Amino acid sequence: MFRNFAIVPRIIFGRGSFNQLDDILEEKRGAGGFMVFILDDVFKGQPLEGRVPLKGDDKLVHVNVDNEPKTRYIDALVEQIKGLSKGSPDGIIGIGGGSTLDIAKAVSLLLTNPGSSAHYQGWDLITIPGVYKVGIPTLSGTGAEISRTTILTGPEKKLGINSDYTIYDQIVLDPELVNGIPKDQWFYTGMDCYIHDVESLAGTFINQFSRAYGEKSLELCRQVFLEDHDDAADKLMMASYFGGMSIAYSQVGACHALSYGLSFILDVHHGIGCCIAFDQLEEFYPEGVAEFKAMMERHQIELPRNITTSLNDDEMDRMISVALALEPLWENCLGSNWRELMTPERARKLYERM
Ligand code: NAD
Ligand code: ZN
Repeated sequence: MFRNFAIVPRIIFGRGSFNQLDDILEEKRGAGGFMVFILDDVFKGQPLEGRVPLKGDDKLVHVNVDNEPKTRYIDALVEQIKGLSKGSPDGIIGIGGGSTLDIAKAVSLLLTNPGSSAHYQGWDLITIPGVYKVGIPTLSGTGAEISRTTILTGPEKKLGINSDYTIYDQIVLDPELVNGIPKDQWFYTGMDCYIHDVESLAGTFINQFSRAYGEKSLELCRQVFLEDHDDAADKLMMASYFGGMSIAYSQVGACHALSYGLSFILDVHHGIGCCIAFDQLEEFYPEGVAEFKAMMERHQIELPRNITTSLNDDEMDRMISVALALEPLWENCLGSNWRELMTPERARKLYERM
């Protein structure tokens, strides 16, 4: 079976394109309705907050992403938004990095689908379209702006709500919005994109669709992280989009599987977790890891080390089982006989090096 997947239908790209947000929303506003802007609280009191085109009964909701999105956080936000007014909002607009983009997607879906967001972690469990939603990245790399998932940590698992309904109706790609991002964070989230490309291109699921996007994204990442360009922010924003398009029709691999384990047990954030894992994966991606190390050196990035040494046996076992449960990722990386190649003992050895 070939996958027949949805993609974001409307995209605006360019420096200053954020200024057109008001016009974009105008045609979605119903009589007496309101919009809800979900803004990363890092922008509280910052110029970007003042540029949010609030009108009438619109609401601005700040979200904190010190922790990556949890299902209970989503459920609380949905209750908060339902309490704001009798009707559902005309639109949800998420402005921030991958975490905020995922929060806004999940909120849009849970405003119309009953129950806890934890019930929908999985594939195609959402049956009712969400509220109209717009995604506006302020940090480039995750591809969350284009993907059909919102990654949530629930009581039992870290798993996305994957569905065609999860996709944004509109995205605004304005490279000016990434100004002010701390260098380490810029690097870690940018490497998420680089690793998407490497894992997609080296995987067994690769095809010309994914290759076309993945190769372009990789080329842009090399320009951003190994050369100097005035329009590096523009390049990385497009690399993120293309990287997301590449994995949409292939899959990620060993690095993402292992980073999910790190994140579930140690609360390590996605970008840095991918870097910590990738740094140890020469045996899977020799050229990619060598280039990654050159990028780290060029930008003087020091990764945290020995983060798994404090774990007890039980925590280590759970981390390994979270990683090995991600079957499609291992199949993409190693082929259909991956279980023979990727044993719990091998995963443990890799984790012990991180
Ligand atoms: P993030 O959204 O977690 O933000 C990282 C930090 O950067 C936060 O402190 C945030 O406040 C800050 N920040 C964001 N924009 C800023 C700006 N312009 N200036 C200053 N600070 C800024 O980081 P991320 O790496 O973009 O996203 C990671 C999240 O994305 C994880 O939750 C991960 O699970 C998710 N993710 C989702 C997908 C998907 O397809 N849905 C793919 C990969 C990752
Ligand atoms: Zn990723």
